[in-house]
Amino acid sequence: MDIFPEATNAEETLDPPDWADVGELSHRILDDAIAYLEDVRNRPVWCEMPAEVRAFFGAPLPRSPAPVADVYDDVARNVMPYPMGNIHPRFWSWYMGSSNFTGALGDFLAAIQGSNLGGGNHAAALMDSQVVNWMKEMVGFPVSASGTLVSGGSMANIIGLTVARNVKAGVDVRERGVGAMPKPLRYYASDQVHSCHRKAVEALGLGNQALRRIQTDAGLRIDIAALKAAIAEDREAGFRPACVIGTAGTVNAGAVDDLRALASVAAEEDLWFHVDGCIGALIAIAPKNRSLVAGIEQADSIALDPHKWLHAPFEAGCALVRDASQHRNTFAVTPEYLESTPRGLASGEWLHDYGLQTSRGFRALKIWMALKEHGVEKFGRLIDQNIAQARHLTHLIEAEPALELMAPSTINIVCFRHRLDGASEEKLKAFNTEIMLRLQEEGIAALSDTTVQGRHCLRVAIANHRTRRSDLDLLVTEILRLGREIEAAIPV
Ligand SMILES: *Cc1c(COP(=O)(O)O)cnc(C)c1O
Repeated sequence: MDIFPEATNAEETLDPPDWADVGELSHRILDDAIAYLEDVRNRPVWCEMPAEVRAFFGAPLPRSPAPVADVYDDVARNVMPYPMGNIHPRFWSWYMGSSNFTGALGDFLAAIQGSNLGGGNHAAALMDSQVVNWMKEMVGFPVSASGTLVSGGSMANIIGLTVARNVKAGVDVRERGVGAMPKPLRYYASDQVHSCHRKAVEALGLGNQALRRIQTDAGLRIDIAALKAAIAEDREAGFRPACVIGTAGTVNAGAVDDLRALASVAAEEDLWFHVDGCIGALIAIAPKNRSLVAGIEQADSIALDPHKWLHAPFEAGCALVRDASQHRNTFAVTPEYLESTPRGLASGEWLHDYGLQTSRGFRALKIWMALKEHGVEKFGRLIDQNIAQARHLTHLIEAEPALELMAPSTINIVCFRHRLDGASEEKLKAFNTEIMLRLQEEGIAALSDTTVQGRHCLRVAIANHRTRRSDLDLLVTEILRLGREIEAAIPV
């Protein structure tokens, strides 16, 4: 008996009628992709989309077919020329990595294999666990720790903060909910903490007020004495201090909290110690700077972000938890349709027991391939290189009377502004914002801005393996030129 009868004409598939045709197109796409990356430095960092491109995205739901070559032409014309820009050597806005070609091949192959990393007994699942093990090794976590690859740092932080809540709740919070907790929990972080932690405590049912923002010192690190005072005050007031979040590399200015001191406070006060290492956890692999994050290995949980300093194509975050059983006990559920079997595809551990997602993408492959190709030591050197470049920029700013450094540069983030004699803070902000926007609009460089200690500033975050020092020299030259042009146009 033929158990795989030929498809009848009435049955359809998404596969192409002729694989040879897609082969030709696929080769063209690959050639275009390589040329695109080869030429990235010669294109503007960013450019505004013309009206017809915006209008293109208003097209209605397609009901009838189109040749895939035409579909690709649409993408080539309307999407590829208008990127975010973070693969460009002079992109330094906010904080993100600059991707890499091998990682892109990994994403392609992951999609071709199409595996679901919710779990199961297959090679992709083993690779997912292997990459988590490599991450543990990079930050000095024990082999017995657990972890999970997630969409990014925000989700990785939610994982850590959820385990912290469940461990410290004082009640079976999974079963009974936060309303049954004997005392409301309190979490602590510096006033520089990333906004995702606010979303996390809100989503966890603890509320924004449960996250106490502790003042920072002159280096924008959490003030340890103020932290201890806040903990004592909260105990007195009937709260349960539950978790301290240390930041290894704040998003505003790249400050690194004193992680060793936080580990001691956590031990003395019986708190969960979570490290938001989305920016800086991987400094642990950088030979010249790793001492900056000493103490990270003492954390109970760590969030880190392979799509930042490992330059994995979006998305890839990673949560690590020291005590694997606390991690699993926070998320594991075994519904009847996902029971494991002694052999076969459903044997072994389900990876979805370590997080909130059921279906999971094969994120590990893009990270794995780039790590195998370059080796972890090269990634460590690239981190050192970005930090050295930030110091170079800092020196340029310090040597230029028209520019002013606005925060200490510890790692790869530099906060500064263009001076304007006698101008109010408000006028300075407008002036510097105009410089930033013209840098973007002229396609020269992408910076972002922020406010540090109440003062507006421009911000350069160099998490970019394509940046060269000469790009930073050019940045300073262009800022000075724009400063002169804009100043000349300001009515007196
Ligand atoms: C980027 C970042 C996050 C959020 O990570 P995503 O990958 O963007 O979700 C959290 N904390 C810090 C310090 C970050 O820099």
